[in-house]
Amino acid sequence: MTGQPAIRIDNLVKRYAGTGSGEDKLALKGVSFDVPQGEVFGLLGPNGAGKSTLINILAGLVTKTSGNAEIWGFDIDEHPRNAKRSIGIVPQEIVFDPFFTPFEVLENQGGFYGIGKGERRSEELLRAVHLADKRDAYARTLSGGMKRRLLIAKAMVHSPPILVLDEPTAGVDVELRRQLWELVTELNREGVTVVLTTHYLEEAEQLCDRIAIINHGELIANKPTRDLIGMAREKIVAITVDKDIAGPPMEEAFLKAEVVEPRRIEITYDRDKTSAGQVLALLQQHGYAIEDVTTREADLEDVFVQLTGAG
Ligand code: ADP
Ligand code: MG
Repeated sequence: MTGQPAIRIDNLVKRYAGTGSGEDKLALKGVSFDVPQGEVFGLLGPNGAGKSTLINILAGLVTKTSGNAEIWGFDIDEHPRNAKRSIGIVPQEIVFDPFFTPFEVLENQGGFYGIGKGERRSEELLRAVHLADKRDAYARTLSGGMKRRLLIAKAMVHSPPILVLDEPTAGVDVELRRQLWELVTELNREGVTVVLTTHYLEEAEQLCDRIAIINHGELIANKPTRDLIGMAREKIVAITVDKDIAGPPMEEAFLKAEVVEPRRIEITYDRDKTSAGQVLALLQQHGYAIEDVTTREADLEDVFVQLTGAG
């Protein structure tokens, strides 16, 4: 397949029927975007934004209310089998039969896709996700992180050109998060188009070539990561000094300087142009000794505020 996007989402709507007297929930309000081939694409949004709903529609687990979706050029309604064969999905929830070993999990999945015993890649996949030494362990004895890696291998059994990971690092420790990031990067380097959902801006920023932001079922941004992060490049450093601050010191490098307590000042700067160290040095040049410093990164909230012009 050349030229076409890996995934095409066109005006996708999902309405969950309310239970009992509960109201319907419009989880997707007409979302459209393309995932270009070969990229790591981030679908970023807070909890409840509609990320899993969208992924589960692609997985064939949730029925859309209206709109269209194509996977690798295959419409999910007209060519559901081909669409499914073109994508591997790692769901948000970990579900496993606890009595199978990692090797058996992959073999069974291969059988499910009709892949002959000779053509299966179970061993190779176990090595790729660093689980070769757990080949014959019971899945229930694996750590949470190992289970997640096994799920990634399971999603790759049929060698799909697209891998989708729904919140792969939610509730995962720092070390495992780093391992998963490496794994995603490796797969992408081998040519796999990767889509991942996350509610961590930092994660999307680290991994993704392009980021789409979804909030309350609506797409509010879809840009190359560099452009998007540029919208949130302001950083704030709060500094406590040794004496009362007469008036906010003026420096070109400061976008804003605000005295919030007699001895405490908050300075906003552009992280692409200035560093916290430079801000501190400038303040010292004004005759203040630094007693305490805290910095704050732009977070998802700041990006939302800048994008929606709210605040
Ligand atoms: P995210 O993955 O971004 O956290 P979800 O797609 O899980 O968001 O949920 C989007 C919205 O749809 C939320 O308000 C959620 O409560 C609602 N929702 C999700 N699944 C169902 C369901 N099966 N029935 C009713 N409402 C649902
Ligand atoms: Mg979710």
